[in-house]
Amino acid sequence: MVTSSNPLEENFSLVRQRIREAEQRFSREPGSVELLAVSKTFPAEALRRAAELDQRSFGENYLQEALEKQQVLADLALCWHFIGPLQSNKSRAVAENFDWLHSLDRLKLAQRLSKQRPEGLTPLNVCLQVNISGEESKSGLVPDKLIEVASGVASLPGLKLRGLMALPAPSDDFNEQRRAFAAVRKCYEDLCHAGFELDTLSMGMSGDLEAAVAEGATIVRIGSALFGQRSYKK
Ligand SMILES: *Cc1c(COP(=O)(O)O)cnc(C)c1O
Repeated sequence: MVTSSNPLEENFSLVRQRIREAEQRFSREPGSVELLAVSKTFPAEALRRAAELDQRSFGENYLQEALEKQQVLADLALCWHFIGPLQSNKSRAVAENFDWLHSLDRLKLAQRLSKQRPEGLTPLNVCLQVNISGEESKSGLVPDKLIEVASGVASLPGLKLRGLMALPAPSDDFNEQRRAFAAVRKCYEDLCHAGFELDTLSMGMSGDLEAAVAEGATIVRIGSALFGQRSYKK
């Protein structure tokens, strides 16, 4: 049933349907791919309406913006994921106010976060961001560094290493999208074979979630397909 008067509701049902269909098409267990709603640049009111549609997990990129929304939405039980680049001098606010960090890319930052994670909270869930596109993107760890950094992170009491996150160069070509995600999956499997107990592959966005699900994504990070085009480039 299409209710064009409520685009957010329509968008959520379309994205949920895309995920279900991709799970089925690529022989993934039903319900094994979690939808993370990427709400950067959208107001707290949009997140509240998403929460009314049973969305609990939100991804934010900009700390100040995220903290403001968290205050406004403090009456809701939400799960907050920080997915943007994180400067060391802002680590404390992430350690204190988030459940997940997807963009961990250096051990120094991990050590700070672990120290700053409040005692009363469960360890901060972290993914290492891996850079498989080489020089095209500056953020993320090169695959050769993953085992070394993962070893350091795994020993930190305030963090729980959950897996990998990737943000490959955008492509309109399904096979190309899939190749990039396959490279991430290979890194993930190498870490598992090295003895790390991981359960999370955070990859896939509005334009390439099917390819990510095909290659084992367990969290897809979806922004524009849910909330619409962002009005300014961020
Ligand atoms: C903005 C963003 C997304 C969502 O991108 P869409 O194309 O709007 O779905 C996902 N991951 C990260 C890290 C982002 O910054």
